[in-house]
Amino acid sequence: MSEGDRTYDVVVCGGGPAGIAASVAAARTGAEVLLIERYGFLGGMATAGLVNPFMTFYAGSEQIIKGIFQEIIDRLSAKGGWGGPQEKWAFDPELLKVVADEICLESGVKMLLHAFVCGADVQRSRIASIRVFAKPAERKIKAKVFVDATGDADLAYTAWVPCEKGRSGDGLTQPMTLNFRVAGVDIDRMPSRDEINRLYLVARSEGRINCPRDNVLFFFTTRRGEVHFNTTRVIKLDGTSARELTAAEIEGRRQAKQICDFLRADVPGFENSYLMTTGTQIGVRETRRIVGQYVLTAEDVLSAAKFHDGIARGSYSIDIHDPAGGGTVIKHLPPGESYDIPYRCLVPLNISNLLVAGRPISATHEAHSSLRVMPIAFAVGQAAGTAAALCARWKVSPRDLDVKRLQRELLDQGASLSKVAAGKQSKGGQS
Ligand SMILES: Cc1cc2nc3c(=O)[nH]c(=O)nc-3n(C[C@H](O)[C@H](O)[C@H](O)COP(=O)(O)OP(=O)(O)OC[C@H]3O[C@@H](n4cnc5c(N)ncnc54)[C@H](O)[C@@H]3O)c2cc1C
Repeated sequence: MSEGDRTYDVVVCGGGPAGIAASVAAARTGAEVLLIERYGFLGGMATAGLVNPFMTFYAGSEQIIKGIFQEIIDRLSAKGGWGGPQEKWAFDPELLKVVADEICLESGVKMLLHAFVCGADVQRSRIASIRVFAKPAERKIKAKVFVDATGDADLAYTAWVPCEKGRSGDGLTQPMTLNFRVAGVDIDRMPSRDEINRLYLVARSEGRINCPRDNVLFFFTTRRGEVHFNTTRVIKLDGTSARELTAAEIEGRRQAKQICDFLRADVPGFENSYLMTTGTQIGVRETRRIVGQYVLTAEDVLSAAKFHDGIARGSYSIDIHDPAGGGTVIKHLPPGESYDIPYRCLVPLNISNLLVAGRPISATHEAHSSLRVMPIAFAVGQAAGTAAALCARWKVSPRDLDVKRLQRELLDQGASLSKVAAGKQSKGGQS
């Protein structure tokens, strides 16, 4: 059968944390799944964007994200790619690429790499097929249900799903950051974070560093002698425009080189260090968010709201890197608390066979700044993939899916749901 005649049960667009989990979950739920990814490897921001480490997946002492995410950790751990001497949630991005291949292939996911989703053919509020550019030519691919895990809601946008971008008022999104790693560092001689920040501000005031960020954000990796920098900051550019991404990549590289020069010259322990690698692409924190059946808000996040249709949990703070400048706004949930992500945030308003997973789900700019982190993207992806497979099997639209059946399936898979979502506790007012 040629690709054009075939109809998959589920096609997942984008192979980042959300897309990996969605594909694996859909395949394990019995669907015939195709995963489409524009790069030659999976992982999205976790690999291509060189983002590290995983942000929290605990609320107090309770682990609130499990399931496929935990399996990824176990597989990384078995290969020596999990945790570092100074960073317990660091992972090896090269091993994540291998682990992602393995878990997808073992689950029966068919993969099409080097393939860019560039359009949708919509008929009567349904995506009849998607257009994919994959050498040697553009092709059409059909599915009963599609999952948009592109991070940018590329498929939803081309299918005319209403989308928002950035903060209210001026529409600016969180800045982009070219992550980079420096090797050859004598870690034992590194000064404190406060002292590194002081030296950085001196270099900035002397004009040796030209970067809007007002402090140095760094993490350790799985190996001694390497330091991971999340410090470059490129503001007021749009991650869905190739023209603006071009400018962002060039500016990110310029800043990375300047910061490396500063480290070697000014910071003890870095005298013999060198720029080991930059991300394959600049890290994009925020672009489009779909408008779905429910829009998650900052109040939901900060009040640790629970929902009867919760399909994933988050506990990461609201974390907004200033879209126009140097600072970062952080607002924490109450200690030990977590919030639910309702299934309705994954369901777009106007297309009947589409689910959205990962960072573009339906949320405000503020709520997005919390739910965007990788563990939550894995959890939401697992729910989206499972839902898509159930919809394909039962011939129902995602908007008509019996959410209780979905939640039972997720619990059987080892995912973690709140007591309210799992039906063990009632919660007045929320639905
Ligand atoms: C600078 C930066 C620092 C961050 N820091 C952290 C951190 O420390 N810890 C943490 O947990 N999270 C962090 N995050 C957040 C996190 O990395 C992302 O929000 C998360 O990876 C989102 O997962 P996703 O699967 O939704 O999207 P992505 O990771 O963006 O994956 C999307 C995938 O879709 C593919 N794709 C996109 N468009 C198309 C298309 N049209 N056709 C085919 N394929 C396509 C991409 O190549 C990619 O593989 C950070 C993000 C950035 C940018």
